[in-house]
Amino acid sequence: MSHADKLQFSSENYSGQRSGTSLIVTGAVHGNETCGTRAILRVTRELAAGTLTISRGSVTFVPVANPLAFTKGERAGDRNLNRNLFPNPHPHDFEDRVANWLCPLLAQHDVLLDLHSFSAASEPFVLVGPRNNDGPLEPFKHEQQERALARRLGVRRFVDGWLRTYGAGVQRRLSGSSELQTVLRYGMGTTEYMRSVGGYGLTLECGQHHDPQAPEVAYRAILNTLAFLGMIDAPEPAPVAPEQMEALSMAAVYDKLHADDTFSRNWTSFDPVRQGEQIGLRADGTPVLADFDGRILFPDAAAEANSEWYYLARPNLSF
Ligand SMILES: [Zn+2]
Repeated sequence: MSHADKLQFSSENYSGQRSGTSLIVTGAVHGNETCGTRAILRVTRELAAGTLTISRGSVTFVPVANPLAFTKGERAGDRNLNRNLFPNPHPHDFEDRVANWLCPLLAQHDVLLDLHSFSAASEPFVLVGPRNNDGPLEPFKHEQQERALARRLGVRRFVDGWLRTYGAGVQRRLSGSSELQTVLRYGMGTTEYMRSVGGYGLTLECGQHHDPQAPEVAYRAILNTLAFLGMIDAPEPAPVAPEQMEALSMAAVYDKLHADDTFSRNWTSFDPVRQGEQIGLRADGTPVLADFDGRILFPDAAAEANSEWYYLARPNLSF
C-alpha cells in the first residue's frame, strides 16, 4: 500500500434537537491552508465539551478535505481539488476519490463555508457567487441569503464574478471553444459544486498561510455563521457597515503568453492600478498595461505560458 492508499476521509456532525439549516464547514481543501482546520478543531472541541451547543439544524465539519495535500503540506495532492470537482465513476487520481466522497456529502447540505488562506501578506476576503440568474453557466437563486451571510463573516472585502471571468479565460485558451461543459469542468470547485446542487456557499480567504490571526478569522466566521443561521443560541451578528465594505467584481483574466513574460513589480492582490499603468512586460518587449482603473487580483508570477497570470477587478458599488 502506498502512503496515499492509507489515507481516509473524515467528517464530524452535530445536530440540534430542532429542525433548521444544514451547514457544512470545510478546511484544508488546499493542504497548506490550515487555518480552517485549526478553527474547526477548536469549534468541535467546544461542541464535544458542551460549551457550545447546536440547538437547531445540523452542522458537518470536515477539518481536512484533502488529506494527501495536507500530509504533504502542499496546495495539491495529485492535483488542485478546487477544480474539476465532480463525482467521477472512473477515478484516476487522489482528488477524484476525494470528490467521490465530498460531493455527495456537500449535496446533503444547504450551505457551505469553505475556509482557505493565501500566500501574500494581505487582508482577508470572501468570494461570493453570482447574482440570481437562470443562465447556463451558473444558475442561482440564493443571492440574497448568500450575500447576507457574507456580510456577517467578520471581513470587509468581497469579490464576486469568479466563474464568469475564469470561464471566459478558459474559452479563450481553448481558441474560442464555447463548450460550456469544458468551462464547468475547469471551474467547478467547492462553492460552485454546492450551487450546482441547489445550495449556496462562500469561500473565505482568512489571511496569509502563517498569519496567527487567520485561524481566529476562521473561528469567528464559523461562530458568526452558526449564529446567523440560527443554529446556536447567540445574538445575530451585525452586518459589516456599508462604509467599511470594499466590494469588487472580477472583470477580466489575463494570461501569461510566454514563460518569460514578467511583472513590472511584485504585485499583491488588491493592489490598485490606473488605466494605462504598466503591469508587466511581454517576452517580446510589449508592455502590458491596465485596461481600466481597478484592482489586481491573484497575480501569479510563477504562472506557466497560456495560463492565468492575473485578474483585474472593478469596484462593485451595487454589492
Ligand atoms: Zn485555497
